Amino acid sequence: MDYNVFFASALDKLRDERRYRVFADLERIAGRFPHAHWHAPQGKRDVVIWCSNDYLGMAQHPKVVGAMVDAAARMGTGAGGTRNIAGTNHPLIELEHELADLHGKEAALVFTSGYVSNQTGIPTIAKLLPNCLLLSDALNHNSMIEGVRQSGCEKQIWRHNDIGHLEELLKAADPARPKLVLFESLYSMDGDVAPVNAICDLAERYGAMTYCDEVHAVGMYGRRGGGICERDNAMHRVDVLEGTLAKAFGCLGGYITGSAALIDAVRSYAPGFIFTTALPPAICAAATAAIRHLKTSSWERERQQDRAARVKAVLNAAGLPVMPSTTHIVPVLVGDPEKCKAACDMLLEEHGIYIQPINYPTVPRGMERLRITPSPYHDDALIDTLAAALVEVWDRLALPTRPQAMAAE
Ligand code: PLP
Repeated sequence: MDYNVFFASALDKLRDERRYRVFADLERIAGRFPHAHWHAPQGKRDVVIWCSNDYLGMAQHPKVVGAMVDAAARMGTGAGGTRNIAGTNHPLIELEHELADLHGKEAALVFTSGYVSNQTGIPTIAKLLPNCLLLSDALNHNSMIEGVRQSGCEKQIWRHNDIGHLEELLKAADPARPKLVLFESLYSMDGDVAPVNAICDLAERYGAMTYCDEVHAVGMYGRRGGGICERDNAMHRVDVLEGTLAKAFGCLGGYITGSAALIDAVRSYAPGFIFTTALPPAICAAATAAIRHLKTSSWERERQQDRAARVKAVLNAAGLPVMPSTTHIVPVLVGDPEKCKAACDMLLEEHGIYIQPINYPTVPRGMERLRITPSPYHDDALIDTLAAALVEVWDRLALPTRPQAMAAE
C-alpha cells in the first residue's frame, strides 16, 4: 500500500480550502530587532518583522542573551532528563520562585511550553476535583480546548466574554458540584480583554474555581508585568494563573501558578509534566533574567503601547480596516483567505515586510486578517513605510478599506 497517498490527499484538501500554510525562512539579527534576514528562493534579503510574539524584543535583550550564554557555559545545554529521572536544575527552581512572586502566588510549576501547561494542567486539575464541571469561554485557545477534552469532564461553553451567559450556566449548575471557569485575559487574535473582576465576582458567588491564561499579557501589562490580572488588581482573585516564557519574556516554556497544594498536586499527577524532559538550565536562566528585568523596567511596556497606538492611528488615517482592539494587537481585516496570503506575499517579496497571514482555523472563515504586533523598536519611519506598503497592496488587490461603521468608532 502506498501510505503517502493519504498524506498527499490530506494536503490537497488544505490547498483546496486555501489554507495550506507556508512559513518564511528567517534569520533574526540580534541587536537589530525587528530586522531579520529572509532566506528567499532568490537569495538572502533584509526584511522587517511585523508579526512576532517576541512582543518586547526581550529575545535579543543583552541581559537575557547574557544569562543564557553564561548558564550554558557553566551548566551545559540539556537538562539531562525529566525531573523524576534527573532532578531539578537549580535555575529552574529560581525561575519558579520568580514566577510565583510575579503573580503573588504560593508556588509555580514550569512546563516545556504554554501549550503543554494548558494541555496537561487543565485536565490534571479538573480530574482531581470530583465530578468537576468545566465552564470554558468560546474563544479559548486550542491548548485549553485540548485540556478540557482530555479531562473527560462535562463541559459547558459560555459565549465569548458574555458574563450574563456565564452566570446563567453557573446558576443552573448544582451548587455542591466543583466548577472550574476557564478563560484568557487577553485574546490574541482580536486583541480584546476579559472582564476578569466580573468573572471573579461570579466565581465567588457560585463557588467556582478560576483558571486564567495570561499568555499574551505577561510581561506586557501590570506594574511589574504580571499581566492583565495585575493591571486590574485581580491576581489574588484568580486561583490559577497560566503564562508563557516564549512571548514577552523572549524564551521558551510555560507555567502555572497557584496555591502550594494545587501546584504540588499538578507536579505529582500531570503526565505532561512527569514524562517529558525539563527545560534546559540556560533557558531557565534567560527567562528569569527577562522576568526580573520587566519587573522593574516599564520602558518596554510603555514604549510598546505607544508604538501600537501610533500604528493604529496611522493605519486608520490611511483608510485601512483596522479592527477595534484595546490592546497591543493590531488586526487588519482582509476577509478572504487567498487575498490574505497574496497580500502577505506581496508585502514580503516587494516591500521587505514580513507579516504572516492569519487564516481559518485560527480565525473564523471570512475573518482572515493580518495580525500586526508593533514592538518598542518599530520607529516612526518603519511605521510610515508599513502604512504606505499596505495601502499599495490594498489598492492592487482591491481589498476593502475602512467601512463606515468602523470609521465612526
Ligand atoms: N495560550 C494561548 C492563549 C496562546 O495563544 C498560546 C500560543 O500562542 C499558548 C497558550 C501556547 O503558548 P506557547 O507558545 O508557550 O506554547
